[in-house]
Amino acid sequence: MKPNTGGIRHDFHDPWLKARLQPRRRRWSWVAIGIAPLLAVVALLFVSETNLSKLPAADSLAPEAAIPQVALAATTAESAAPSFVGPEQHPELVGGLGDAAIVDLLVGRGDTLELLFRRNGLKLADLAEMTVLPDAAEHLRVLMPGNEIQVAHRDGAVVSLIREIDEILLLEIRRGEGGFEAVTTARDFDVRTVEAHGEIRTSLFEAAVDAGVSDALTMEMAGIFQWDIDFIQDVRSGDTFTVIHEELWREGEKLRNGNILAAEFVNRGTRFRAARYTDAAGTTGYYTPEGLSVRKAFMRAPVEFTRISSNFNPNRRHPVLNTIRAHRGVDYAAPTGTPVMAAGDGTVEFRGRDGGYGNVVVLRHGGNVTTLYAHLARFGTARVGSRVRQGDIIGHVGSTGLATGPHLHYEYRIAGVHRNPRTVPLPPADPIPADYRQDFEATAAALWRRLDVNAQTGLASAAD
Ligand SMILES: [Zn+2]
Repeated sequence: MKPNTGGIRHDFHDPWLKARLQPRRRRWSWVAIGIAPLLAVVALLFVSETNLSKLPAADSLAPEAAIPQVALAATTAESAAPSFVGPEQHPELVGGLGDAAIVDLLVGRGDTLELLFRRNGLKLADLAEMTVLPDAAEHLRVLMPGNEIQVAHRDGAVVSLIREIDEILLLEIRRGEGGFEAVTTARDFDVRTVEAHGEIRTSLFEAAVDAGVSDALTMEMAGIFQWDIDFIQDVRSGDTFTVIHEELWREGEKLRNGNILAAEFVNRGTRFRAARYTDAAGTTGYYTPEGLSVRKAFMRAPVEFTRISSNFNPNRRHPVLNTIRAHRGVDYAAPTGTPVMAAGDGTVEFRGRDGGYGNVVVLRHGGNVTTLYAHLARFGTARVGSRVRQGDIIGHVGSTGLATGPHLHYEYRIAGVHRNPRTVPLPPADPIPADYRQDFEATAAALWRRLDVNAQTGLASAAD
């Protein structure tokens, strides 16, 4: 079928570039909104010279990049296979087991709970009962090699089952009066606050390693400052960073990193600072010393992408038509199906098929801004007229319309005029509500002082 090229507004992918784009599996959840464009950061960990060939193989970074930083529910790269906590460490967990026999199920490659139950002569009927418990199902479905599950039983009839969900959470299922019951308990841990300071010589990534900061934490720090610093373009040798963060410990052993409490990034002489704050209403964010959100009203890139495959360019020579045709958006290459997020709060103005754009969504925002998302494989749930919040999934990356490979074509318009989404000044997000301002200042004061001290120390060592 001959594509309709009348009024063409489509995108082209260099086949060579496309060949280099290996889809990578990641498991970001929506919680990663703030870090969404961060996949860029994978690429940007190396000080930018536009020479992409100097970038590390993205895949070598992917495993860490893939780790969502979710409060206390996520595991981080720091966590080795957790050591199993048996009844000897947790006698309270085995109270009432009496004469039950205890068997540790060690998960091997390809094992399922069913296989492990069969192998150990445990009753499959009990397993079936346990796996439908609402609180247990998700934690029993997925097993990883190296996981350990402890089962107490009498002649194969399960009395209790315990498994570590992560370093903190423990799932316990017990046979009660009316069948099995599942309880999730949080085990004790200590929180330590530590800080790291680094100066960039070759790359942010290497400076972070030198400073003892993990890739995951580096990504998170970059996520905090992504709204002000383009980590692909802007990072230079001589830039410095300080990060104050939590570590979770138990019995002298570090479990993993916790939240970043405050961070500073000095980029080409400009100092950016942010502190984490949770207000009484439960809203958590990172704020500047002036109480402004580090976030902007719009995300720079509303998708987790592997490469920018085509930049905003009013004078682009079209590779197929060989004529000058403006490319009035930015193309973010990403595997088909990658979620596309609303760049800012707004309402759905258009959702449907539109020529070379394929499946397209247009959002209307405050300040006479509209944003456009093209070539979608499919749409999210928001319909025309629906309100969406920044980060809501409005569709999925595809290659509908005139596109030679899966990518998001993203446009940003002010009063109908196309602007470069990567450089247009973005309006700030809401500041700390006035009611919480005083509390924030009191909470953050100590963190700013620590950053001050680090800044001094950093200066002193730089002067050596
Ligand atoms: Zn495009």
